[in-house]
Amino acid sequence: MFKAFLIKYAEIGVKGKNRYLFENALVDNAKRALDKVDGDFEVTKENGRVYATAKSKFDFDDAVDALQHVFGIVGICPMVQIEDNGFEDLADNVIKYIEDTYEDKNFTFKVMARRARKNYPMDSMKINAELGGKILDAFPETKVDVHNPEVILNVEIRNHINIYSKILPGPGGMPVGTAGKAMLLLSGGIDSPVAGWMTAKRGVVVDAVYFHAPPYTSERAKQKVVDLAKIVSKYSGPMNLYVVNFTDIQMYIYDKCPHDELTIIMRRYMMRIAEYFAKQEGAQGLITGESIGQVASQTMQSLAATNEVCTMPVFRPVIAFDKQEIVDVSLKIGSYETSILPYEDCCTTFVAKHPVTKPNINVIKHSETKLSEEIDDMFKKAVETAELIKIG
Ligand code: ATP
Ligand code: MG
Repeated sequence: MFKAFLIKYAEIGVKGKNRYLFENALVDNAKRALDKVDGDFEVTKENGRVYATAKSKFDFDDAVDALQHVFGIVGICPMVQIEDNGFEDLADNVIKYIEDTYEDKNFTFKVMARRARKNYPMDSMKINAELGGKILDAFPETKVDVHNPEVILNVEIRNHINIYSKILPGPGGMPVGTAGKAMLLLSGGIDSPVAGWMTAKRGVVVDAVYFHAPPYTSERAKQKVVDLAKIVSKYSGPMNLYVVNFTDIQMYIYDKCPHDELTIIMRRYMMRIAEYFAKQEGAQGLITGESIGQVASQTMQSLAATNEVCTMPVFRPVIAFDKQEIVDVSLKIGSYETSILPYEDCCTTFVAKHPVTKPNINVIKHSETKLSEEIDDMFKKAVETAELIKIG
């Protein structure tokens, strides 16, 4: 029944003379998303509107699902497209559209006609009135309400005529690729995939780094992170995932430093390594899933101690979210089920019974002086031996 979609976007519309850049990115990203769906599509931009039109048979649900993963889209309107064979034919098609689309005809409506082609023999007001009358005749249960209708029946007269009334929600945000790049510290938990998703939602390209500690962490724990990266990349596009072997560094810190400071010092090394890859990828910032007070390493003092080693801005989108709010997002984006799989991560393996909750940066720095040049070699080895997995 549906041959095309009108793609609605919100925030891009307010961009001044750069608006076309955002629209072009949206068009490209929608194309890329639809490439994965059975069927041929054309995505076009016309007078401040974006259309996805099917050039062959296609799977409707898959196409909607693909578009619902494209940031920048706030609404997806499935359209029936007909040729202009005169007003009576249009009216017949509109009635058929309502017949097929609404099982229950007990609704209020108004017709909203728009003529992109001004040579159509009736003006918009006349089309609205005449079509409204035809609908009332065909479906006496319906009522017109021009102020607060339940159904807005849109009729766009272009080369074809588009008929639509339903808006399926899009994910919102800004098209990925319009706001730089950042490096996500992606663990197997609930929070970091959400943090990556939220940042990508604002148009940021996301790459990721995962620290594993074989044999203390398993292949399955790593696979879980790869799976989470795939879930995020379904929204954010292709992602470079660096898998860093962190075992030597972690063991060495465990050997040399006070155990209650282990997590903080370890996290400082994670940030340093993540920043190394961020620079290599031309990223402008780091992303973590930290949230104030969630664990000992996420108190204000711990965050300050972790942050201190970074020269790049560190983005923490869930910093003020309650756990349940983070869970709600993870359920929405489909990462929750994977995140709760019970595979250990490298932070839990060596965790101290009573980690410091108010680390003093100077004390931490002093503890780090106990790590000799050996740590630099380990750092070097860790980045050199990192495995790059191309996601998406
Ligand atoms: P998450 O649910 O994201 O794992 P968490 O509540 O378990 O977070 P921590 O383990 O303290 O919190 O980690 C805080 C943040 O540090 C994570 O959100 C993530 O960004 C990063 N991080 C922690 N462990 C790793 C890891 N093994 N690899 C990459 N990043 C990590
Ligand atoms: Mg974690």
